[in-house]
Amino acid sequence: MDKHLCIHGHFYQPPREDPWLNTVLPEGSAAPSPDWNHRITRESYAPLARARRLDSSGRIREVMNCYEWISFNAGPTLLNWMAQADPDTVRLMVEADRASLARLGHGNAMAQVYHHQILPLASQLDKELEVAWAVDDFTARFGRAPEGMWLAETAVDAATLEVLAACGLRFTVLAPGQAKAVSPLAGGDWVGVNQGSLDIRQPYLVKLPSGRTISVFFYDGPLSQAVAFERLLADGETFWRRLSQAASPGLLALATDGETYGHHFTFGEMALAFVLDEARHGRDGLALTNFAAFLAANPPTMQVTLSEPSAWSCAHGVERWRSDCGCTDGGHPGWRQRWRAPLRQALTRMKDLVDLHYFQRGASCFLDPRAALTGYGKVLAGLASQEQFASEHFRRKLPAEDQAVAWKLLAMQQWGLASLASCAWFFDEISRIEPVNGLTYALRAMELASRTGAQGIEAEILPILKTAESNLAEYGDGEAIWRLLVKPRQESEASLTAQALLTLWAGDRMPGPGLSARASWPGVSVTVTASSDTEGTAAISWALETGADVVEYSWTPPGPGGHATGGGASGPEVAPTGTGGAVQAGSSGSHAPGTPGVGRIADVARHRDPLAAPVIVRGPGGEHSFIPRGLPVNKRQALADAFATRASQVLWEMASARMATVAHLVTELQEAQSTLTLAPQWAGMWAELTWTYLWGLDVTGKRRDLLLTFLHQCSGCGYERTGLMERVNALALAEAASPSPDWEGLARMVRRARTLGLPEDWWAVQNLIWDKSLHKGDGRVFAELIGFAV
Ligand SMILES: [Zn+2]
Repeated sequence: MDKHLCIHGHFYQPPREDPWLNTVLPEGSAAPSPDWNHRITRESYAPLARARRLDSSGRIREVMNCYEWISFNAGPTLLNWMAQADPDTVRLMVEADRASLARLGHGNAMAQVYHHQILPLASQLDKELEVAWAVDDFTARFGRAPEGMWLAETAVDAATLEVLAACGLRFTVLAPGQAKAVSPLAGGDWVGVNQGSLDIRQPYLVKLPSGRTISVFFYDGPLSQAVAFERLLADGETFWRRLSQAASPGLLALATDGETYGHHFTFGEMALAFVLDEARHGRDGLALTNFAAFLAANPPTMQVTLSEPSAWSCAHGVERWRSDCGCTDGGHPGWRQRWRAPLRQALTRMKDLVDLHYFQRGASCFLDPRAALTGYGKVLAGLASQEQFASEHFRRKLPAEDQAVAWKLLAMQQWGLASLASCAWFFDEISRIEPVNGLTYALRAMELASRTGAQGIEAEILPILKTAESNLAEYGDGEAIWRLLVKPRQESEASLTAQALLTLWAGDRMPGPGLSARASWPGVSVTVTASSDTEGTAAISWALETGADVVEYSWTPPGPGGHATGGGASGPEVAPTGTGGAVQAGSSGSHAPGTPGVGRIADVARHRDPLAAPVIVRGPGGEHSFIPRGLPVNKRQALADAFATRASQVLWEMASARMATVAHLVTELQEAQSTLTLAPQWAGMWAELTWTYLWGLDVTGKRRDLLLTFLHQCSGCGYERTGLMERVNALALAEAASPSPDWEGLARMVRRARTLGLPEDWWAVQNLIWDKSLHKGDGRVFAELIGFAV
């Protein structure tokens, strides 16, 4: 038999979505990225789709899609986020699966348990939902049914495998230590095995109590460990030699978290690409494959019994997700995890009560509540529209009111399942973001239960949370965490209206009297209809629900301006006084723009906090006043970001347009002049002046020398330089993507940026050049300048 190699990456992130907005909010610790999903996408997921293969002089000779050559699974919740935030990488994952399917007869992609629940700890209902929804998500994403499924934490028992087999899945992948005994399928003695003695070069069959079967692969434990934790990715050649030495006839499989490549180990994707390239060329007789292709060619001849339950990251079965077993991460050696058992108990109790409510209330909405719940996965995956789902599962002539209840019941189940994602128990403290998120999803599920008529669920779980001991004295127990960290995140009609008003205001999109505008997030949208600058109505509608909650609002806008202006808000010759709200919030307009008036401190100090003004709403639930300062920090941050983004855009457009008319004057000089006249004033426009220079400002001789001297002397701080180059990149990308790019202008820009020592990062432009093979045509010179071998 030939030597086969399969390198598997498990790609997953703990759920970070806010369960009302259904969006990932800013996470300051991920800076300079806006949040950890973005950060890890930039460091790992995207580079793996576009790994640079360099020649001996360090120039790009290939941009490699590693997903085409490895086995991989990506969590549905992660892919849902990524489809919005980085569709290019998702597209390349799907293309990679298609290419591997064409090459090997079986695709590289595997499905994954929907919310990353520890299935041996899940109820039978939840097991079936987590698997069925995952199959639907995979089918929608990859355009084919999955053959294999990755189990969260490789947590397994017979009941779990029964559900996989019943859903048509043919295999999963486990750690070698999870095998207990093996025997020939043809008959023979059972032999006890451990990680050291198990022959991992072949798949094994598991015979299930129902009579169904499923195949299991075991990965190479020590080698996978070395990739993940022992710097094996520091050098591609060393990595290759270890693989080649370990390979023998049959299959050599590795499995690690996919984030190992690039996030945990910087440039790990390049070492991986090196290894894949060697294998692709048949070095040392190794052939690349995936699990499904290997299984098809090599059906099991042995069967295995497993340690049940067991998982890859706990030495005590699946205790890590329900008790203080000693397995932990988080960096606090003395801390205990006695909170795990009550947290498990509280969330399980919540889900049981939510299930009870679903089936009781759902009985009058759905033809078959169980079938409807399973079928909801098709709506989440986009395989069925809400209309199709309703006509298949709703009772005939269901009143609109009950239809609204039905959708809420389904959303309740969605968040109930999300609350049980394994991440809440993985680390060392209950006040960490993962358990707090799990509890927040439970809060959202309970809110939907309460809105559809259930009562008393919170009262049942709070006493249990009270017994969950925190390691931190400021919290003490889980009930305090619920009160201090979880409950304040709950949205209301007033808080949603306030965020909508401020978001529209920050983006200069506030509707004028009689007009409407919508602020929307993936989970909810708010349509604001103004009757005046300070009053109107807000209609709140939830994604995948029907109907809208309408409230009347009144508020005091943060300052002058902020209306939708129908474009041209930032025309250079008409200084937009106060446009953007935050730009001149509080300005009394006592000085004409541009006049060097000094005024009084009182004029300058009249800052207004846009988050301080109360928003009052009146609706069916009565009148409520809400001060946006009371929002959780991430939501305040999202609003602050909206204000700052718009303000910087307005200022940039105004200043760069003005610079186009004055840049030529910058170097008018006399005699032996060595410093720019008005240098301090020009310095305030450094970015715009540099922008103009990069894109072709035409000055020569001594004028050019003086300009360059000045741009060097006053070269901006790191943030200004990075910010400038982000704008330069965006224009370069647009230019290179246009039907007839100005290649000369692009090349001149790179040379000038290099002269000024500006931070170069041509990642996105390189990707475009590679995709369109522009380095082989007229874009050759530019491509060479930004790193291609041509
Ligand atoms: Zn353990």
